[in-house]
Amino acid sequence: MEIRLASPIQYDSIVDGEGIRAVLWTQGCPHKCPGCHNPITHDFDGGFIADVEELKNELTNNMKYQDGITLSGGDPFMQISAVLEIAKHVKALGKNVWAYTGFTFEKLIEISEKHPNMLELLNNVDVLVDGKFIESEKSYDLYYKGSRNQRIIDVAKSLENKEVVLVSKYAKEKTYNKLAEKKDYIFV
Ligand code: SF4
Repeated sequence: MEIRLASPIQYDSIVDGEGIRAVLWTQGCPHKCPGCHNPITHDFDGGFIADVEELKNELTNNMKYQDGITLSGGDPFMQISAVLEIAKHVKALGKNVWAYTGFTFEKLIEISEKHPNMLELLNNVDVLVDGKFIESEKSYDLYYKGSRNQRIIDVAKSLENKEVVLVSKYAKEKTYNKLAEKKDYIFV
C-alpha cells in the first residue's frame, strides 16, 4: 500500500500534540483555508509516494522515545486506508495517536456511513483536532490548534456518547500572556 506524503516522518515534535511526537505530514488537502500554515501540502499531486510497510518498519525502529504519532498534513483523512494502517501499527506499539483534520468530527461520522474504514480510523485515533483554520478566529493562546473554532476531541468518549466530548485540559486558553501584563509577576 502507498501513501502520498509532504515530507519524511518528523520526530521529536513538541508542538503537534501532547508530549514528544512523531508527525506524519500527509500530502493533499481539499479545504484551502485562507492563512493555512502549510499551503505546500494542498496539491494532491505534490509531495512524494511512500510505501506504508516501509514507514511501519521505520516507526517500529524510531518510536521508543516518542509518546505517539500525530497524523497531519494536508488532511490525513483524505487517505483513509493508508493512514489507518499506520495508526493501527502505532497503537500496536503502545503509543497514542493524534490527528488533525479540516473536516468536523460530525462530517467524519457522516462519511463513515459510506466508508466504514473511516470509523475504524477514528477508533484508532485518541485525540482529534477538527475543523478548518479560520483566520478571524486565530489566537496564539490556544493549545495545539490555530483558531478558536477548532476542537480538541476525546475520540473514544465522543464515539461512546455519540456527541463531541472535548479534552477538558485543552479546552481552555493559555494564561501566560495575561499574567505577563501584570506588574507583580517576574518572568525569567
Ligand atoms: S485543513 Fe489544515 S492543511 Fe488544510 S487548508 Fe486548512 S489549515 Fe491548511
